[in-house]
Amino acid sequence: MAADSDKQGPGTRLVTAGRRKEWTGPVVNPPVWRASTHLYASEAERKAGGAPNEDGRFYYGRRGGPTQWALSDALTAIEPGAFGTVLYPSGVAAIVGALLAVLRPGDVVLVTDNAYEPTRLAALGLLRNMGIEARFFDPLDTTGFPGEFCDRTRAVMLEVPGSLTMEMCDIPALAAIAREHGAVSILDNTWASSLGFPALQRGCDISVMSLTKHVGGHSDLMMGSASAGEKYYRRLRQTAQALGHVVSPDDASLALRGLRTMGVRLEKSTASAVAIAQWLGARPEVAHVLCPMLPGSPDHALWQRDFTGGCGLFSFVLKGSDEAARAQFIDALELFGIGYSWGGFESLVIPFDPSSIRTATPWPPNEWDTGDRLGVRLSIGLEDPEDLIRDLEQGFAAMEQT
Ligand SMILES: *Cc1c(COP(=O)(O)O)cnc(C)c1O
Repeated sequence: MAADSDKQGPGTRLVTAGRRKEWTGPVVNPPVWRASTHLYASEAERKAGGAPNEDGRFYYGRRGGPTQWALSDALTAIEPGAFGTVLYPSGVAAIVGALLAVLRPGDVVLVTDNAYEPTRLAALGLLRNMGIEARFFDPLDTTGFPGEFCDRTRAVMLEVPGSLTMEMCDIPALAAIAREHGAVSILDNTWASSLGFPALQRGCDISVMSLTKHVGGHSDLMMGSASAGEKYYRRLRQTAQALGHVVSPDDASLALRGLRTMGVRLEKSTASAVAIAQWLGARPEVAHVLCPMLPGSPDHALWQRDFTGGCGLFSFVLKGSDEAARAQFIDALELFGIGYSWGGFESLVIPFDPSSIRTATPWPPNEWDTGDRLGVRLSIGLEDPEDLIRDLEQGFAAMEQT
């Protein structure tokens, strides 16, 4: 089975992954096993029940049950090079869980300057309080990166593309430099998922995803995961158990349902996002389209080199600095909900301005010599792209009237 599944394409693996007979029984999907307690038939059976820290055997609810194991197993199957996957109650819990698994007081962690904001806040708050020092670096400066390391650097926190601003960085190069310096590389791989970017194969040690986004896919659950080879998987699991992290079997079942269709959803939303990004690039109201999937964009070559897929999330920057006009544009949209998160079946929009958050790199970038600074992030869902374009068009029309 394992040898065969290595040869399978990602679409086939999404369908077969995690569906072990002992978990599904005679039906297609593993049932929702709601359980805190496993009842043993006898004291002898309890004694013979296996090690408390073993996966795949009932012990106690905090160790999970078949529904959660099926999801972990499925995520491991779609992350080439993974030995195992730990589930967390949210993507942030997965990021923090991975950092805590590899860092100790006195250590230094290098954090990409365009990290998801809660990652930065965890580094500056929780980690700092534990005596772990976070230093932020410019992820585009691969040449300068070795100079960031000192003898206390234990881990590097990466993300690609950059949160909100969508820059591509050279993950294989950064991960290789981290390894040369004896540091663990952790990638927030939520954007592309393991389908679009096989993080461990590209040199990262730990691949983290917010399952809230593409895997859930329907805006109705929160969950996170971290996948790794054997050494780091064991540390991740131990730390997660120490923190008491569990996910409910109901949510695991929803995530498994989402996972089966993730491939086709990502293909559709990627194609729509590219079409919409192209259309936006020709609009007079738009100063910059920040979308590495867009042919001709500055990051496209690197995206093509390293990625096998994308998703529906990208950003653009309006001309000028009239925040009221941006609000008019956003309020006029009917098919785009105003909300955080992304990766659901429905399209979303959110304004952004990371200028006060970044410390190692400027926003807007120095090359942009005008005052254009009004960021808008779109999450393209499964609606017809022509309808979304019409909606954006009437948003621009509303903006022009102000
Ligand atoms: C949403 C998000 C997370 C956090 O996930 P939650 O499940 O919301 O906690 C982490 N990283 C990125 C890039 C995200 O967009």
